[in-house]
Amino acid sequence: MHRLLFAVSIFFASFAALHAAPAPAEGAAPSSPPATEPSGKSATPSPSTPSADAPATPAPTPAAPKVTYSDCHVDGQYIAMTFDDGPHKTNTPRLLDMLKERHIHATFFLVGENVVDNQEIVKRIVAEGHELGNHSWSHPNFAIMNDASVREQLQKTQDAITKASGVTPKLMRPPYGSFTTRQKNWAHGEFGFTVVLWDVDPEDWKYRNAERVKREILKAAVSGSIVLSHDIHKTTVDAMPEVLDTLAARGFKFVTVSQLISMDHPKVKATPVPKASPVPKADSAPTAKTEPAPAPAAPSKP
Ligand code: ZN
Repeated sequence: MHRLLFAVSIFFASFAALHAAPAPAEGAAPSSPPATEPSGKSATPSPSTPSADAPATPAPTPAAPKVTYSDCHVDGQYIAMTFDDGPHKTNTPRLLDMLKERHIHATFFLVGENVVDNQEIVKRIVAEGHELGNHSWSHPNFAIMNDASVREQLQKTQDAITKASGVTPKLMRPPYGSFTTRQKNWAHGEFGFTVVLWDVDPEDWKYRNAERVKREILKAAVSGSIVLSHDIHKTTVDAMPEVLDTLAARGFKFVTVSQLISMDHPKVKATPVPKASPVPKADSAPTAKTEPAPAPAAPSKP
């Protein structure tokens, strides 16, 4: 608790300092148009869907764009596979081969440090139709960092990805899913990011066991799911052929996160079909750099 207070005060101190200064990135990417969204979503958030939901008071403002997704509500069995922490020299190309063979497009949340060392792979990911997202430069815990440091992590990674592939990510996933609500809005305002979490987590970073990875994903995946996995682990990639083929056999169609988001629409009244509990509840305390537990504070479902 004290540590939190300390962090908070540090944050305010630096925040003040930042704003007293010329504020370099201030004008960088104001949230001007929510046009950051890849497709439909930003343009047509509500026209056709007059909130059949809650007795919400008529929104006075122009329906703020949704900043964070941990899953989507879509018509049809669409699902998004996401792979974090790469690219990895051997495991990522192996996964790309599997995806290509099945004509599946996925989303890769890249770590800047690894982008620099594997630029050809980043190019290949894009060339083969997959989507890229920013997963920080060195995988720190953003929730305990000040804005200036988080900005640096994100900007360096944006630059590296753009340099390697010509594509500038519009999606961001905080390491461990650790990001405060304020930070989510901040990142959206600063970079135009949509923050992407997940609802299916096989904890493949923790259990390096292909059989388990497969079982956990197949157990939890539902229509609209965003599946978290890590292409830096051999065991995860080993699990993929069966995961992908089984999901396909069940009727799932694979799309990128942006495509899934573009199909997202508000749930029509309570049909409380609780998909297996919204997973992430592991405890935060990220320690190792590899991929500790996703912070709990993260995936809050709308
Ligand atoms: Zn990660």
